[in-house]
This record gives sequence, structure tokens and C-alpha cells, in this order.
Amino acid sequence: MSAGITTTPGIKTPGNYINEVMALVKAKNPAEPEFHQAVQEVLDSLRLVLERHPEYISAKILERITEPERLIMFRVPWFDDQNNVQVNRGFRIEMNSAIGPYKGGLRFHPSVNLGILKFLAFEQVFKNSLTTLPMGGGKGGSDFDPKGKSDNEVMRFCQSFMTELCRHIGPDTDVPAGDIGVGGREIGYLFGQYKRIVNEFTGVLTGKGLHWGGSLIRPEATGYGCVYFAEEMLKTRKESFDGKTCLVSGSGNVSQYTVEKLLQLGAKPVTVSDSDGAIYDPDGINEEKLAWIMELKNVKRGRIREYADQYKKAIFMPTDLKLGYNPLWNIKADCAFPSATQNEINAKDAQNLINNGIKVVAEGANMPSTLEATKLFLEAKVLYGPAKAANAGGVATSGLEMSQNSARLAWTREEVDHKLHNIMKAIHKTCFETAETYGTPGNLVNGANIGGFLKVANAMLDQGLV
Ligand code: NDP
Repeated sequence: MSAGITTTPGIKTPGNYINEVMALVKAKNPAEPEFHQAVQEVLDSLRLVLERHPEYISAKILERITEPERLIMFRVPWFDDQNNVQVNRGFRIEMNSAIGPYKGGLRFHPSVNLGILKFLAFEQVFKNSLTTLPMGGGKGGSDFDPKGKSDNEVMRFCQSFMTELCRHIGPDTDVPAGDIGVGGREIGYLFGQYKRIVNEFTGVLTGKGLHWGGSLIRPEATGYGCVYFAEEMLKTRKESFDGKTCLVSGSGNVSQYTVEKLLQLGAKPVTVSDSDGAIYDPDGINEEKLAWIMELKNVKRGRIREYADQYKKAIFMPTDLKLGYNPLWNIKADCAFPSATQNEINAKDAQNLINNGIKVVAEGANMPSTLEATKLFLEAKVLYGPAKAANAGGVATSGLEMSQNSARLAWTREEVDHKLHNIMKAIHKTCFETAETYGTPGNLVNGANIGGFLKVANAMLDQGLV
């Protein structure tokens, strides 16, 4: 343990301290349930650490790590195609820079608000630490909805958004990437505007196009990485993906490449979804059907229900919030890859998965399981890969893109994929071993939270009270 700023240790027990910090977080950040949920999950794991390391209590590391270093909120005015003025809200949360420049995606979705971005930025701090690369944590975005907008509208919005954001980011300061609603098209428009204003061609964003600084495998990285992580989990029980039936939710970037890697490893993915509903294809989604989905989603920007018109054996199950559960998670399968959005698996969904004998849950999306669902998976001894570990392949490959940009060279597809694969193995090893060290073998939630925390907390101690 490194020396650092400490005050006289108080008389608090770890349990009391955690309860106090949690109450403080709720009081200071009212009406932000997703942020409370993400903090609660991490703090619950840290109890085990604080029992061994009271120096974190006296240095008030938890109060500091739950408070963003900087929070930027701004107006984003733009003209739509009818020349009407539109106004959205933009955000960037610069959460923690103890181990590197802020790094984390931008989300464009109508549900975006401060609490959702704070939860994502908080998760990002631990996730980035787990990747083994030097990246701090951040997140940003807007309540802008790209759905139904023309390319020109998306471009004007992105240009207005970047006109403000460019003052706060930079290749050694804060390096955003994509997330929900922000793919290659949006990164292109954002990068173009940054370059125009700042007059510098630098690696200020990741997820760039291949011919202008992007990295091979970055589009695939989150999905591929999640499957690599799940493969490591399966290996601990001497199993492989061969012939395993898999449920995947969402049909965006993460889902598409999860399906692709599952097919390469001999599994049988049978579902994908979007916010309107899910399709279940009992024959399995093969390479040809996946190509059709990619065209539908990435080019035509259509809805997943169209899959059932194209492939007659597939069933479309429309979203019905009154049901209280998602029928996608009630299909019998071996592995589940929630890859759409937060809290998409509630306690009922988790119970349905468990009752149907699910072996693996690997989270491609961020915080897709509620706290109750997570608890059920852990109690049932399901191989459960929490998001901050299982989906870290995306940001890890963003880190590799930054390295290539700094060195002004480009690695081959095989090189990047190899590095990604090794990083996912290393993350699994850290989570697995840390869970054991702290007396909860197999609990990768504790393993990920503690493994991610220690590096950041020690860097914070080393750097003094800043
Ligand atoms: P995309 O925008 O490419 O796709 C998102 C998918 O999820 C779409 O099918 C979308 O459907 C669906 N979806 C979004 N919101 C909801 C909702 N409220 N209810 C139901 N379905 C919804 O995003 P990504 O694939 O990039 O991101 C998916 C998840 O993965 C997110 O949680 C993201 O934070 C996480 N993630 C992404 C990384 C990346 O590299 N892209 C890295 C790490 C995590 P619809 O089109 O109808 O909205």
C-alpha cells in the first residue's frame, strides 16, 4: 500500500461507513435512481476491502470516488430540415482521472439524463481500470433522439454538440467514444467539427473510420470481448460454446458482434430485439440472417419486427410493459447476453432464466440486471459476468486505438483481436482471483468491483488530495 494523504482514522466500521456514504450519495444526487443503484452495487462489494484497508476510510476515498471531478451541461441548439429551431441538452461527466485521461462513450437517446450518465461514468471508472490500460472514467451524451432524423439533421446536431464539447476534451484530457445512438456516422460528424474548430488532427475520439485514424476490430470489440469473457467463464466449468443456445437482446453494435462471435465459436444464437420487441428464431440466426440484420439496422435503420416477415419461422414478440417480464428471457437457453440497455433483466426475468437452466449470463449492456436480478444469479451459482468486466472489450480496444494514434501506426486485424482476446482473459483472471482473495470464490461481481477499485483508489492516495 502506497503512502498518501490520510486523516486520523475514525471509529467507523466499514458497514457504518458504507451506509453513511450511500445516504450522502442519495441526498446529494436526488432523483437519480440508476446512479444510486450503480454506487450501491460497488459499495456492497467494497465492504470486504475496507475491513482490510481502513486507510481508504480515513482518506474518504468513497466520498471522493462517488463525486465527479467535473460535470459539464450545455445547450445544443440546431435547425431541423423544416428550419425549425430545436434545443437539446448536452452533458459530459468527467468522473475520475486518477489513472489516465477521462474515457467513455457518448449516448444519444431521449431517456438520457444526468443520473443515467453519472451511473455510466461511475461504472466506467472501474471498467477502465480492469482493462489494464491507463484510462480514467467519463461518459456523456444528449437527450437527442437520432431515430427518424435525416443524415443532415444528425450532422447539424453533432456539429452543434461538438462546438461546445470541444473546449473540454482533448487527446490527453478526455477522449469520448460511441454508445447507444452514437455509431460510426455520429463519430464522423463529431470528429469533423472538432478538427475544424481546434485545427488539429488528433485521436480525440475513438471509434473513428478506418481511413481516418480508426482501429480495426473497434466496431466488433464489445460484442467479441463479451463472448471471449463468457468463454473464460465456461472454461472454469470445463465447457465450451459448442452447440449452446444463446439469447441476445438488442440489435445494435454490441448485439450484432456478439451474435457474430457466437457463430464463430459454434453456438446457436436464437434472439435479437429492439425497443419495439424481440424476435425468436428457433432455427437460429446464421451468418446470412446476421448480414440481413446488419443491413436492416445499420443501413436501412429499420425495425427488428421486419425479421419475422423475412424469415417466416421466426416469431416477433412485441414489447408489453404490462407483462412485468420480457418474454425473450423466458426462452430456454444455455447462455444469455443482455446487450440493449440498463435494467432490462428484472427479478422475474432472472428467475425465468434460472428456472430454464441458464448456465451463463454475460452482460454486453451496461447494468442490464437490477440489483435483485444480480442477487438471484449469484445465489443460483450461474456463471455471471457483470458488465464492467464482460463488456470492457469496447473501451479496451478504444485504448488500443489511442495507442495506435499516438504512435501514428495501424495494427492488423489479427494483432488487435489478439490483444483484445488477451485483455479479456486478463480481466477474467483478475475478477476470478480477486473474488477468491476476498473470500467469495466465483462471485465475479465482487471480483470486478474490488479489482477495478484498488488500482484507482491507490492512485488517488498516491496523488494526494486533489
Ligand atoms: P446501439 O445504439 O447500437 O444499440 C442499442 C440497442 O438496444 C438497439 O437495438 C436499441 O433498440 C436497444 N435499446 C436501446 N434502448 C432500449 C430500451 N430502453 N429498451 C429496449 N431496447 C433498447 O447501442 P450499443 O449496441 O452500442 O449499446 C448497447 C448497450 O451496450 C448499452 O448499454 C451500452 O451502454 C453498452 N455498451 C456499448 C459499448 C460500445 O462499444 N458500443 C461498450 C460497452 C457497453 P432501438 O433501436 O429500438 O432503440
